Amino acid sequence: MRILVLSDIHANLAALDAVLDAAPAVDETWVTGDIVGYGPEPDAVVESLRERRVIAVRGNHDAAAVGGDEIDYFNEDARRAMLWTRGVISDNTRVWLAALPERVVREGFTLAHGSPRDPIWEYVTTVPVARASFDAMATHHGVIGHTHRPAAFLNDDGVLSLMAPAAGSVLKFGTRRVLLNAGSVGQPRDGINTAAWMTLDTDAGTATWQRTPYDIASVQVAMRRAALPEFLRDRLAYGG
Ligand code: ZN
Repeated sequence: MRILVLSDIHANLAALDAVLDAAPAVDETWVTGDIVGYGPEPDAVVESLRERRVIAVRGNHDAAAVGGDEIDYFNEDARRAMLWTRGVISDNTRVWLAALPERVVREGFTLAHGSPRDPIWEYVTTVPVARASFDAMATHHGVIGHTHRPAAFLNDDGVLSLMAPAAGSVLKFGTRRVLLNAGSVGQPRDGINTAAWMTLDTDAGTATWQRTPYDIASVQVAMRRAALPEFLRDRLAYGG
């Protein structure tokens, strides 16, 4: 099965559209959370994903958008953007986001936003946390998001390694256990400002990471119009 994996779209419709234009034909699209928050077009992004019939899990921003107390742990800019998001999303968007599960098991993968152990909040950035994630997964493999940085953790019989995939990187994991992060479509934080995404071929046992440029300036204009925080607008330009 061929799968497109998207994460942390964050209501950035221009980035999502660019990725969907660039992506190959796939059998399924998986979304590892944070569909809304930060960005200016939450309803349009959710509508696009609904039309595509994606398989998605809930991120901390999605939970906050539908009234969750996750907002109490946000920094000031994230909180301002979330209050704006709560005020503009439609009932349809709210109902769809509220129905997202925290974890999904599919094709031998566990899908979670943060980590398989703590799907809403935990950041998997280190080998010890990745080891706890492997231990917490009932499946052989996992896909996660939340860090906004492409990454792959490999588990060779208990020996773990961390890889930072570049655009065009192909990982042939075969039968080795892996925990994969596609990076962020709508707000990359690895110092590169293009939208990050990943494809999986579960028959070949491969993961491929890609980057796609999009019209950042148009998103910044929409964010200015919505009076979203300046820092959130600026960071799109430098991918940090
Ligand atoms: Zn996020």
